[in-house]
Amino acid sequence: PPVVAVVGRPNVGKSTLVNRLIGRRAAVVQDTPGVTRDRVSYDALWNGRQFVVVDTGGWAPDAKGMAAQIAEQAELAISAADAVVFVVDTNVGILDHDEAVVRVLRRSKKPVLLVANKVDDQRAEAEAAAMWNLGLGEPHPVSALTGRGSGDLLDAILDILPEAPGEILEEGGPRRVAIVGRPNVGKSSLLNKLAGSQRSVVDNASGTTVDPVDELVEVDGTVYRFIDTAGIRRKVKEASGHEYYASLRTQGAIERAEVCIVVVDASEPLTEQDLRILTNVEESGRALLIAFNKWDLTDDERRRYLGREVERDLVQFGWAGAVNMSALTGRHVDKVGAAIEDALEGWETRVSTGKLNAFLGRLVASHPHPVRGGKQPRILFGTQAQSAPPTFILFTSGKMDASYLRFIERRLREEFGFHGSPIHLSIRPRE
Ligand code: GDP
Repeated sequence: PPVVAVVGRPNVGKSTLVNRLIGRRAAVVQDTPGVTRDRVSYDALWNGRQFVVVDTGGWAPDAKGMAAQIAEQAELAISAADAVVFVVDTNVGILDHDEAVVRVLRRSKKPVLLVANKVDDQRAEAEAAAMWNLGLGEPHPVSALTGRGSGDLLDAILDILPEAPGEILEEGGPRRVAIVGRPNVGKSSLLNKLAGSQRSVVDNASGTTVDPVDELVEVDGTVYRFIDTAGIRRKVKEASGHEYYASLRTQGAIERAEVCIVVVDASEPLTEQDLRILTNVEESGRALLIAFNKWDLTDDERRRYLGREVERDLVQFGWAGAVNMSALTGRHVDKVGAAIEDALEGWETRVSTGKLNAFLGRLVASHPHPVRGGKQPRILFGTQAQSAPPTFILFTSGKMDASYLRFIERRLREEFGFHGSPIHLSIRPRE
């Protein structure tokens, strides 16, 4: 789905507006400024159209060099979006910091919707009209706090969103692959190695930015669309908020991809950030391949220790594909293509209802759920509701223990594969 970034200087009410747009009633999330949040983008639905809202409200610049930082951060958010909602504070009026964002917006040539926020009553609407001066077209008066004007705003957003270009472009096209991982693990080295000489650049969906967003790369005779390679190739300057936007880009790439290659540095201990990215891929329901890169820098001792780390920290990703490789020497880079195909195959596996229930019947007979409160919970019937990722609905009598569900998942994998793909189990107890 198309992506809408909500930008503006701090304190204009971006997060409150995001809550409005996605229909979340909860109060504004109070995040520590500059701290990386796990989720910064949200699915929104209006008049039957789906889009993704990116909340840039969690980031706040240092006091010094503020205008430049605001502009830089806005630029990063804008580059990852199909359309931009630019928020100004009607009560305060236009500040230099707003102007800094306006310059970035003009350069980006992305469709922009100007929101004059904090218009809580009729009187303030006159002040909102003054925002015409920004040269960004008609200001949309809104009160994110009370919801005033937010329905009209959503209509206006749908109007400027490119006609779901993402879906049209991507449906049936080359398979979409994202290379993600923390900085310096070798993502761009891997991309370069895979691309070799045959690289072709694809314009981003709206075709308006200079930056190529995706690239078509042929691997083992199959063409793949590598997502957001601009984010991989363009090394963004270290700045406060940098990590925040890196995580935003990473999440955006994961959500657009079908299969994610998470690159980790095998020569160094695994980090929290590695685990966060892996978890994000699993929760997003994407196929997963873990590339243990910089294998050339590992000695026997490091490899033994890595084995223990994998057993301890990566057990929950035991289903993922893995390649021990070196983007530098080229070792096992030739295995990546087959591993991508393997993961996609597992991700798209479909099991017929007949086969599934024959299997479940045998399993329940040989390994019944432990008795709970004098009752015997049972799986009555199951069906695979979806593939990509495989999603099963199990109708049960009574609640199921988490450990029993893990056992079911393990046995489903042994029986039907799903290698490289997360599995979702949805339990519907019938009392
Ligand atoms: P990115 O930030 O994840 O895109 O990482 P880069 O691809 O820019 O790589 C970061 C650094 O690690 C560069 O100096 C690379 O040359 C180096 N590097 C990448 N892959 C390997 C590898 O397999 N072995 C070794 N020894 N160095 C590597």
